[in-house]
Amino acid sequence: LARGDNNTMAMQIERFELSDLAVEVLRETQMIDGGHEYESSVSPVFIKADKSLIKQGTRILIDNAMKYTPPGKRIKVSVSSEHGFARLTVQDEGIGIPPEAVPKIFDRFFRADESRARATGGTGLGLSIAKWITERHGGHIEVLSRLDIGTRISILLPSAPEV
Ligand code: ATP
Repeated sequence: LARGDNNTMAMQIERFELSDLAVEVLRETQMIDGGHEYESSVSPVFIKADKSLIKQGTRILIDNAMKYTPPGKRIKVSVSSEHGFARLTVQDEGIGIPPEAVPKIFDRFFRADESRARATGGTGLGLSIAKWITERHGGHIEVLSRLDIGTRISILLPSAPEV
C-alpha cells in the first residue's frame, strides 16, 4: 500500500468461482461467531483475480458486519452475476453509518463516531484496503446504509465467464 507503489505489486491471477470463496469465508466466520444469524444466497459466477486478495476483501466486509451488528441480528452474504460483473454483497442489520460519514468510510483511518466509541477496536484501515483490492481488479465498491437499520456493502468485479 506504499504511496506511488499501487500498480507494481504482483498479483497471482487465476480463474475461480466467487460464490465458493464467499461460502468458505462465511463458514470460517460462523465457526468463530455464534452471536449472529448468518444467511447466504449465492449463484455461481467466475472471476479472474488474485484469490487471496479477494478473500481478504471479503473477510473485511464480513468482519465489519460482525463488529457493527448487535448480537442475534442477521448478516447475509450473497453472490450474483450482473451485466459482466460479479457482485458480492454483505448485508447487516447493524448500527448503520451516518449519511455524512458514508463518503469517508473508504478513507484510511476513518472511523465513524459510533464505532470510535465502541469497545471493540479497529484501525479504520479495513475498507480502504477492500477498496484498493477491488479497484486493483478493475472493480468498484458500493455502499448503502441507514442509521440504526443496517448496512449493505457490495464488491463488484468483472466476471470471467468463458474458460
Ligand atoms: P478495521 O480497520 O479494524 O476494520 P474499522 O472497522 O474502524 O477498523 P473500516 O473497516 O475501514 O475500519 O471501516 C471504517 C468505518 O466505517 C468504521 O469505523 C465504521 O464507522 C464504518 N463501518 C464500516 N462497516 C460498517 C458496517 N457494516 N456497519 C456500520 N458501520 C460500518
